[in-house]
Amino acid sequence: MEEFLKHFKHHSRAELRWLSEVFEGVRQQLHPLIDPSLGLSVVRLSLAVVSKVQRAVGSDSSGLPVSYRLVSVSELAREQRTACLSSLSWSSAHYLEGAKWAEQKLPEYKALPRDNLLLIGFLCDGRAAGTSDGVWRVRDAGGSVSCTMLTSSCLWLGRLMLFPTWNYIPQNAPVAGYLELIDPPVCVTLEAMAFDPGGTLSEVMSVTRAAELLRQRCEDQGCVCVSGQVSVVCPLLLIGGKRFFCLVLSEGGSSVPVFITEAKHQYWRQCVCVGQSVCISSLRVCSLQGLDGRRVLTDSCQSRLHPQESSEEPDTHTHTDDTDTHTPLPSSSAPSVRVKRSTLISFKGTVTKVLNAEAGLYEMDGQVGLCLAYQPAQKWGGGLRPGAELQLHNVHFLYQACPFGPRVVLCVCLRSSLQVRAFSRSSSPAEVTGSHSAQQRLLLERNLGVSEYLWLCYCQNAVAERLCPRWVRAERVCVVAGRLLDFVCDGEPKRQKKRDIYREMIQEPHQCPVTTYCVMWPAVALWSVRQVCEWMRCEVWASLSLLSLLPSSSTHLTAPELNAPLRWSAHPLPLALAAPGPLMLLGVLELDHTRTTLTLRDQTHTLACVCVQTGQSGAVDTAWQGCLVCVRRCTLVMERFMKTNFPSWKHLDQPSYITHKHCRVYLQLCVDDLTIISPSAAMSRRLSERRDGGTPERPRAAPAEAPTRPLTPERPRAAPAEVPTRPLTPAACVSLLLRLESKQGVALQNGWGGAQRLQLGFVCRAACLGDVQRWGRDPKNSRTEERERGGASVCPQVELHFMGPCVRWFPVLHPGCVYRLIALNTEDVSVLKAKGVSARGGVKQLSSPALLLQPQWRIHTLADELPDTQSGVPALMTVSEVLHGSSATEIVSFYGVLSQRITLQEDGGTKPKIQSLTAVQDPNSEADLRVRLSVQDAQSPGQVIHLYWDLSGGPYTHGLIAGASLQVHHVQRKVSRACNVYCRSLPISCVSITDLSSVSSGSGASPSPPPMMLLGEWASARTQRGVVGQVKGHVVRVLSLRLQWTCSLCGSIFRQTSCGRTHPPCDSTSAVFQAEAKVAVEDGSADAHVFFSSDTVCDLLMMSAGQWEGLQRHVRVKGHVKVYTRGYNMTCDEYPDDSLVQYLNCVCSSSAVCRRIHLTCRIRAQRTGKPQLRKVHRGQTEFICKFPPALQLQCQHIHTR
Ligand SMILES: [Zn+2]
Ligand SMILES: [Zn+2]
Repeated sequence: MEEFLKHFKHHSRAELRWLSEVFEGVRQQLHPLIDPSLGLSVVRLSLAVVSKVQRAVGSDSSGLPVSYRLVSVSELAREQRTACLSSLSWSSAHYLEGAKWAEQKLPEYKALPRDNLLLIGFLCDGRAAGTSDGVWRVRDAGGSVSCTMLTSSCLWLGRLMLFPTWNYIPQNAPVAGYLELIDPPVCVTLEAMAFDPGGTLSEVMSVTRAAELLRQRCEDQGCVCVSGQVSVVCPLLLIGGKRFFCLVLSEGGSSVPVFITEAKHQYWRQCVCVGQSVCISSLRVCSLQGLDGRRVLTDSCQSRLHPQESSEEPDTHTHTDDTDTHTPLPSSSAPSVRVKRSTLISFKGTVTKVLNAEAGLYEMDGQVGLCLAYQPAQKWGGGLRPGAELQLHNVHFLYQACPFGPRVVLCVCLRSSLQVRAFSRSSSPAEVTGSHSAQQRLLLERNLGVSEYLWLCYCQNAVAERLCPRWVRAERVCVVAGRLLDFVCDGEPKRQKKRDIYREMIQEPHQCPVTTYCVMWPAVALWSVRQVCEWMRCEVWASLSLLSLLPSSSTHLTAPELNAPLRWSAHPLPLALAAPGPLMLLGVLELDHTRTTLTLRDQTHTLACVCVQTGQSGAVDTAWQGCLVCVRRCTLVMERFMKTNFPSWKHLDQPSYITHKHCRVYLQLCVDDLTIISPSAAMSRRLSERRDGGTPERPRAAPAEAPTRPLTPERPRAAPAEVPTRPLTPAACVSLLLRLESKQGVALQNGWGGAQRLQLGFVCRAACLGDVQRWGRDPKNSRTEERERGGASVCPQVELHFMGPCVRWFPVLHPGCVYRLIALNTEDVSVLKAKGVSARGGVKQLSSPALLLQPQWRIHTLADELPDTQSGVPALMTVSEVLHGSSATEIVSFYGVLSQRITLQEDGGTKPKIQSLTAVQDPNSEADLRVRLSVQDAQSPGQVIHLYWDLSGGPYTHGLIAGASLQVHHVQRKVSRACNVYCRSLPISCVSITDLSSVSSGSGASPSPPPMMLLGEWASARTQRGVVGQVKGHVVRVLSLRLQWTCSLCGSIFRQTSCGRTHPPCDSTSAVFQAEAKVAVEDGSADAHVFFSSDTVCDLLMMSAGQWEGLQRHVRVKGHVKVYTRGYNMTCDEYPDDSLVQYLNCVCSSSAVCRRIHLTCRIRAQRTGKPQLRKVHRGQTEFICKFPPALQLQCQHIHTR
């Protein structure tokens, strides 16, 4: 030490302290690695270090950079936890300027902080550490750390270097971090470089000559030395444990591929770059077996790389390959997919974002995508941090390969080279992937095209974001994404041929998996549940057209008539129409204890679903809960609820008359349209049993594989803790086999066993098919065993009470189906034994024994159980049977198709309300909502029954929209005073949707045209026939005609500009014109009185629009006119001689009105069924005759004008 310090006598104490630290560092970390044959002492080495440092610091060579601390490699790797930059030569101003620029360019990152560290070490290529992976390292006695350089020279290898400017980027274990060497290193030791040509340089051969040599195919070639310009540098590959890389030397029009296979030459990969001229000595000729024996050059042990004067860089952004770029290739399969050829280009740009480091996706210059997936993964970041400037050669240019990413994507393949031209000055992290990521493995296994790969990455992001970790474990995300890719690509272009790496690297013209790509395909967008919900919430009001909700006669409606149809409307829309491109939803089907529908959920949201299953009377199997499904076909339903007070149709464009509005959105789907991406445990058992049983499986499911996770969070939602309640060892349980016989509706009920609060609940009646059974492990939905079925012919009845959270089972329970009820973690058979309900005051409350379901119990549908012929489930009636059945019981259950839904006037507080209910408004229910459902017979659509339903009792019933097939259970059949049959809901009533095909097809309630009817048929057996029919007959005469201007608010007669009401006065200013005609029509079989209302009167009287308007003007003076038939004329009581009356008389008796006519009519409610007594004159004699009441019809439409 003293000997060393002697050289620095005049330095200050601080400098001396610094010098001794340097000396100590050199002695410990560097000197031990110096070749002893050089005879270099510690002192000499230390002096050399100090002199190099002084020179690197710059002009002020006498001073020493005491602010810099010598750091050893091991200390750097061990202790440096934050990224830093160290530079001996930069001034503060220079650093700050660069830092400011970096922060401006990438505002989301801070610039790298400066740290004054002095780094000295040996540059080596990993052979010292036992690997020849082509990665350069900086090493001292304490250890080594990977490094990457902008340029490197073979001459630096193995030499002691001072690194003037570098970044250190720490990473998480096991890789400690790496160095980005910015300025070229400075050689510390001065020993003369022994020039080692490694063979003679005398026979340097041009590329043209070498190419000829390779073509000649003559044996016994000695070693050659080739010089030329590097045109292609391929990435380092590791195949079969052997590492190699390939470069192509070009000159003029010829090129030769050179394979560098020697382990000790792998570091050359960092020393060559495209555009550089090199000379490589001692190359041998050999033939590639993989490529039809094609002859190439390879290096030998003696080979040396000699860089020559670098020539001009090829221009960036230029197309080096001018093949036809945008001519679509003939595509053999589906013409919908456009296949395009990519172009090879060179490109220079800055990394601005890491899109997905695992998938090798980056963003450059804020708009261009970069895909590195077709090259082996970089072991460590390799300088690919946001802010780094890259130079790419032979990279594929793709335009619109994927709709869910940048329009332009540059994709590297095995022929491409990527070089960092400037390291990032931002403190952006380097994201390490280590070896191949899951996506890249999938890419290699399936030989994915680049468009498919980009979609896979899009899909993988979506799955990770929405389902991981709750339903899909992180390591399974890619598997799920792969299944989705299979699903969307089903039947589309076949995958590429197997990759041939040698062909890909050296063949001309270049051919690789990226050469062609599909334009914008797969284009299927994956929406999250929240996204579809939000879209629907916007669409529901955007699509609202008030006029379309009103009947065509809206101009004749008074305010109450006008506002009624606006109260509720539904807007069903197929999913395919929600977005311009194809669309898919992904989610888990689950039961929700607050709703009576299944739900589709992901981590973003939950959406109610009305699900049906074809066959089995629409019953949805319990096995669907917990399945991860993909929905491509379904109907988005948006129901609108509005309170409006429009005075007349003229005000419809003023939204201020809408006083309240809200909506409900949900999906309607058929489970047969779903694709199972990951089945629930019960579903995978069902599918495998079906496969074993030889029955073809219906739902298309992913390949048989254990579910990604027990997807079924079957535990009740009431306990959402993530701790699995399922014990690891198979737990004992007890089960009971049941056949459901009836199901009641969900309503608020008194709690069981003394619970005070009202709870949602419902009751089912079931038959026990056997005794309670013990199991060693959960049998779930496996096939029934013999012992489960009791031998008894009479099955005991049991009432199942579902309260509170158990209400979730409602959508999957259907009368007629067989279920296994399971109580887990118990061997006590008595828990499933139904008990007689506790008597209160000595009175038994319920007739049959009852069982209160516990939230932790499970129910499984046993779909293989055939419906029992002797089951106690009564067959459902048809609508016609309910209408006409003479012996129809008072409580009926029937099925039909919903054709119309009308919201009834609010009660206005007439109904007593339960305080506790109204206090807490449940979002799942609607307050005070009563509807009239018109249900038509499924077979004869003319038969329609009105069903009055109170929807405010329990959770809102979804899916009651026109076109839905319904099963209605336990409603009360009533007959009105006018002898019409209708039904009314009871608290136990329940309705289930069984088919949605006519809803989703968008046809809505557009029924087949009503049947042709003879009036005689209608008159003789009025109610046996449909209520709507077409009639062709003759207008005998107009019996009466009433024309009136009506106040739209109060309904009084409106004269000129004011309402006629005086007590109390009405200040309304709007009025509507209304007309009604009563006409005698006969068709030869009978006659009828047909009523025509406002809009059809104009057609009946054959008036033009002008005449009709003129008539309205005339009526406005008096407010109203009523004419009726007396004798052969029409007259009016008030103004018999008025010209208007004369005119109407004339019109009504004209041959234009009394004509053949084709109408659609419906039967009018009869006021009385009693026959009428009428006087009939015959000559002088007067008779009193009994006439049956005239058939009264209401005209709905006039077909002939
Ligand atoms: Zn390629
Ligand atoms: Zn009025």
